[in-house]
Amino acid sequence: MKLLVTAGPTREHLDPVRFLSNRSTGRMGFAVAAAAVERGHAVTLVAGPVELSAPAGVKRVDVVSAREMLEAVEQYLLEHDALVMTAAVADWRPKTCSEVKIKKSVMNDVIELEPNPDILQTLRPLKGKRIFVGFAAETGDTEAEARRKLEEKGVDLIVANDVAMPDAGFAVETNRVTLFSKEGEPVTLPLQSKLDVGRALIAWIEERA
Ligand code: C5P
Repeated sequence: MKLLVTAGPTREHLDPVRFLSNRSTGRMGFAVAAAAVERGHAVTLVAGPVELSAPAGVKRVDVVSAREMLEAVEQYLLEHDALVMTAAVADWRPKTCSEVKIKKSVMNDVIELEPNPDILQTLRPLKGKRIFVGFAAETGDTEAEARRKLEEKGVDLIVANDVAMPDAGFAVETNRVTLFSKEGEPVTLPLQSKLDVGRALIAWIEERA
């Protein structure tokens, strides 16, 4: 199989040194890529700004903003059998980005924002028989949000994790996730390393590809 995986945060610049972003470190996406390589699959990894080295054998494409990530995923999607969007794409970007550092003296106290495109939703028309997997980082009603995203984003699987837990989600080595698909009841996997979560996801995709 050929898998396209996204990982990490995106950065939405206000000027060359300031940006909006989030706490994603890219570990979950890099673990999915490693698990896929381990099983002999070809992997393209579209990575936001992260401090990780890609597993050997992976084709890595570095991007910064959500729009760059969309462009890269669009460019590579058709040659892949599955898309796993682990990236924590910034929902908003500053309306304007200055080419030079904005001086404190002229800095406005309001930053105007505009929404970023949803990558999964935008590329839904290109899905065909490809398997699409989305992630959901929640801090509240995980099930309702995951089910909504399953519908709205038109994906085959939503991998939900409660990022409010100290041993799951951002910036830790382990994760506890629940899989939501249209096939029936949600399946909660035990707390385990992100590599093992990646292995479980690759197995899920292999069974359906
Ligand atoms: O809506 P939310 O950001 O919680 O959805 C998370 C899922 O949607 C993740 O798989 C993420 O990679 C994807 N996403 C996207 N485009 C965005 C925001 C999120 O594809 N602009």
